[in-house]
Amino acid sequence: MSTLRFEALKQTFNRTTVKIEEPGRRSEIFGSNVFDLTTMKQFLTKEAHKSVTDAIKDGSKIDRSVADHIASGMKEWAISKGATHYTHWFQPLTGSTAEKHDAFFETTGDGSAIEKFGGGALVQQEPDASSFPNGGIRNTFEARGYTAWDPTSPAFIWGTTLSIPTVFVSYTGEALDYKTPLLRALQAVDQAATSVVKYFDKNVTKVNATLGWEQEYFLIDSALAATRPDLQLAGRTLLGHAPAKGQQLDDHYFGSIPSRVLAYIMDLEIECMKLGIPVKTRHNEVAPNQFELAPIFEEANLAVDHNSLIMDVMGKVAERHNFKVVMHEKPFAGINGSGKHNNWSLSTDTGTNLLAPGSTPMKNLQFLTFFINTIKAVHDNEELLRAAIASASNDHRLGANEAPPAIISAFIGSQLTAVLDELEKVTDGKLSPQEKTELKLNVVGKIPEILLDNTDRNRTSPFAFTGNKFEFRAVGSLANCANPMTVLNSIMAKQLIDFKTEVDKLIKDEKMKKDDAIFNVLREYIKESKKIRFEGDGYSDAWEKEAEKRGLSNNKKTPQALKVQIAEKTIKLYEDLKVMNRVEVEARHEIELEEYAMRIQIEGRILGDIARNHIIPTAIRYQNVLIKNVRGIKEIYEEHYKKYASEQLGIIESISTHIAAINSKVGEMIEARKVANKMEDAEEKAHSYCDDVRPYFDEIRYHCDKLELLVDDELWPLTKYRELLFTR
Ligand code: ADP
Ligand code: MG
Repeated sequence: MSTLRFEALKQTFNRTTVKIEEPGRRSEIFGSNVFDLTTMKQFLTKEAHKSVTDAIKDGSKIDRSVADHIASGMKEWAISKGATHYTHWFQPLTGSTAEKHDAFFETTGDGSAIEKFGGGALVQQEPDASSFPNGGIRNTFEARGYTAWDPTSPAFIWGTTLSIPTVFVSYTGEALDYKTPLLRALQAVDQAATSVVKYFDKNVTKVNATLGWEQEYFLIDSALAATRPDLQLAGRTLLGHAPAKGQQLDDHYFGSIPSRVLAYIMDLEIECMKLGIPVKTRHNEVAPNQFELAPIFEEANLAVDHNSLIMDVMGKVAERHNFKVVMHEKPFAGINGSGKHNNWSLSTDTGTNLLAPGSTPMKNLQFLTFFINTIKAVHDNEELLRAAIASASNDHRLGANEAPPAIISAFIGSQLTAVLDELEKVTDGKLSPQEKTELKLNVVGKIPEILLDNTDRNRTSPFAFTGNKFEFRAVGSLANCANPMTVLNSIMAKQLIDFKTEVDKLIKDEKMKKDDAIFNVLREYIKESKKIRFEGDGYSDAWEKEAEKRGLSNNKKTPQALKVQIAEKTIKLYEDLKVMNRVEVEARHEIELEEYAMRIQIEGRILGDIARNHIIPTAIRYQNVLIKNVRGIKEIYEEHYKKYASEQLGIIESISTHIAAINSKVGEMIEARKVANKMEDAEEKAHSYCDDVRPYFDEIRYHCDKLELLVDDELWPLTKYRELLFTR
């Protein structure tokens, strides 16, 4: 008997639900572990408080002496909450968060000790950064990295550590993290959008991008997960036969949440409340043991931090409940994978959502301006958006008939399609008073203020308008949202800058009225961006053909999808907006290619190990049982034995065939890896891993899964899909 698997199952059957007490009204504990503006009022002088408020609002610098004061207030607050350590919390390009804890505690030299935390330690730190991915930036410049306080995202206490959100940059100023380019992109879109909003509303002084993410994940019992080296090391199963019952009955989606899971979610939600993460919805997802969690949307930088933080918190809270959180985009073949929808919009400091229709024709023209510019931005940069969501793990999902395809398109619904069709007919040049009245009454004025309830939903679109925001649905569940948010806000910033230039030119050169000029530019954008709009079934083969005809990209695999990141057009876009310079862009591209190759390499090694050292020996053991059985039958029936042993003989032969195939394919895969490993060029290597190594995975898996069906269940060492997915 395979002891580990059955021991783990036994443990799982004996689990009890952890009892969770609500610590009080959630609204009362919300943000209790966050050093937010309200808390700051208690601990800071008026002057210091204003200094932080200004830094948040317009990015103004915080004076060093004020920083000292803020640090001391922050320390007092943190210690009063039981914190003993502090850390600069940042998001290196590894995809997870990084932290190095230092104690407040310091000795004074006379045998006693005090708690100390100065402005210097708040503002800047120097982690030993040499082992974070940097794409050659630090080697080239021989510079070290340092972290610097981001006052726009408040400090928080997690466990007993005061965590200070920071950017991570090299001494020569290049970004080494996700946050730095995101902050620059958000600033770019703020400036560009604010100047466009001024056509409609002079009172607006700032525009924030908003993000509401929806995190999907699987919960697997930790004992069961521990029996699977693939889940432990690669975050997904590399083999395993499909269970008899999967998700075909659709009986999990929105079903009642199992009690052990509900206890976990409640525990997690309470932690989120304290950390100021406004989680709001929880439900079962499509696949068995798959769930989703979503907060109320927030300013994009804060929302990104909250998503990075929650991914960490989810894992830690899961330990208390004996669960492993699996966030991989495709942990189980044949079962739905996980995504992270990024709901995105732009919102003014006067409280207007720029992607929500309004109550007057003028407000609707403002809405249409931002709406059409978004579509144009997506049209002009579809490949870059695709690149923003590319990863080895998301490749399993995109285009795999359950998730949006690798083709980027925008869905807007029939009502807005009709509006754009009308706007396309607007006269070239100045509009007559009648035409304008007609437009305002019957087109722009007819957009219902509440589109939310009557917009059609298209679940197959990677970028769908959902009434008052766009939903970027192709983002992977493991992804750091900063990457797609940097791209989306950058392309929008560029688009709005171009729009403003064109409108102003018509006003100046053609002496057009402001709304005539706006209508004229929008009309052209509608025409130019038509091919990105698609209302049909994004999962269908017909769409793939149609998209090809339209000239849209369809980059199914990461190395191919990433290429556009270093196109001259992309570098110019980022340089013009000051989001990233050439060195930063190229470094990131290289890091992503390297990461891709490493992920496939790791999976290849794990699969080789499981196949040769777990599956083959198990198959031989079972084959020996059969051989013994056949020998016994022969002893009894002599020359007639074949009549009674034919099935066994057949299985013995099948097992041998599968073993031979596994062994030779693993050997070939190892050779292919050796070839790839010798490649110096990151791009060449990533392609080699993609095209020459990865295809072996399916072949090896096929034979392993066949053996799973042949071999005695009692001998099988790996916890099976039905056990992983239906135990809770
Ligand atoms: P659903 O799409 O599930 O029907 P909603 O439309 O209410 O639900 O919202 C889905 C997600 O969109 C939520 O996580 C919410 O926070 C987010 N969201 C709503 N409005 C905005 C907005 N203006 N900007 C960004 N995200 C938003
Ligand atoms: Mg959604």
